[in-house]
Amino acid sequence: MRDKELYRRILGIEEPWGVADVELQLERGEVLVHVVNREQRPPCPECGHPSPGYDSRARSWRHLDTCQYRTILMVMVPRVRCPEHGVRQVRVPWAEPGSPFTALYEALIIDWLQEASTAAVARLLGLSWKQVDGVMGRAVQRGLARRKRELPAHIGVDETSFQKRHEYVTAVCDQDKDIVVHIADGRERESLDGFYREFTEEKREAVESVAMDMWGPYIASTEEFIPGAEKKIAFDKFHVAQHLGDAVDKVRREEHKALKEQGDERLKGSKYLWLQNPDHVSDERWAAFEPLRESSLKTARGWAIKEVAMQLWAYRRRGWARRAWNRWYQWAIRSQLEPIKEVARMIKRHLEGILTAIVRRVTNARAEGINAKIQWIKYTARGFRNRDRFRNAIYFHLGGLDLYPAGLSR
Ligand SMILES: [Zn+2]
Repeated sequence: MRDKELYRRILGIEEPWGVADVELQLERGEVLVHVVNREQRPPCPECGHPSPGYDSRARSWRHLDTCQYRTILMVMVPRVRCPEHGVRQVRVPWAEPGSPFTALYEALIIDWLQEASTAAVARLLGLSWKQVDGVMGRAVQRGLARRKRELPAHIGVDETSFQKRHEYVTAVCDQDKDIVVHIADGRERESLDGFYREFTEEKREAVESVAMDMWGPYIASTEEFIPGAEKKIAFDKFHVAQHLGDAVDKVRREEHKALKEQGDERLKGSKYLWLQNPDHVSDERWAAFEPLRESSLKTARGWAIKEVAMQLWAYRRRGWARRAWNRWYQWAIRSQLEPIKEVARMIKRHLEGILTAIVRRVTNARAEGINAKIQWIKYTARGFRNRDRFRNAIYFHLGGLDLYPAGLSR
């Protein structure tokens, strides 16, 4: 008798529900808690109208473990016959509709998912991958349904690939809250149009900046939907650095190939030396890199052009910054390094947006941070075969959503 009362209290089960029996199955490592409904005329789940009982269905829910024992709620759930809605199963207070887990157990899984991959959580809790994935999916659905839709004042737009190299999603971020607010398929114009279209012209006018890569479709979409876009589009340092980094890498690959044919292995294994951020490199590493970066190699020349461009973000005034970038362009375009010249031309075409990023201090830390977190999500999941799962995982980890079952929001 006392264990029934104990479980009733632990589970928070209230009238008209009660614990009829507690059964310990030692060999299976399970505690079965039998729960009954003692109501004469339970309410219809649709309208709340007290209705005559129709029949009962046996159902079970996994709950938080009792010590090391799996704890399972075994319930004969009544069905009622509502005069208006017909035969319906009554609502249970401990779980959300459609979940095989009590709300508390689902919250535990959500907590674990913040720390580890779906596969790891499934292994740890003795659940199937699909069950854990279902919890994540429901959590995101709840979170999206609850959130208040707002157009951020400072927007960041970024593309990210998943699984196969050429499949993309577009992620829109709120740069003040540091969260992902929208994910769309592809990286076309429509990917961003769909997001902007959700908001009134008045709301869109209030946008102060849109940070992005120098990517035609995003630019065209923003120009159409954001009034005053020409002063709001900002091409942030993170993306410019990426383009120049890729260009330096192309120069290195070509040069390495040419040198190797003459038996010169100087560039072997040097890929990441050229791509590292000098601000984050140890003194020893930097010193070891000196013979290469001070050499007369083409790669060293390309690298120097990139590093100087990175310094141009220190300007505060548009006019000074523009003059400095124009000087840089003259240098880059005469470098005789095709990949560098190509990026230089792209930068010249988009210079006003780069200057906007500089003078408005549009931080790239955020774009870089969210991008790094998305890479982490991909890495821990070992890739995504499915776009919806990838989207769910991004919302789950970066959406700033209230993910918990009803009543457990924190
Ligand atoms: Zn009804």
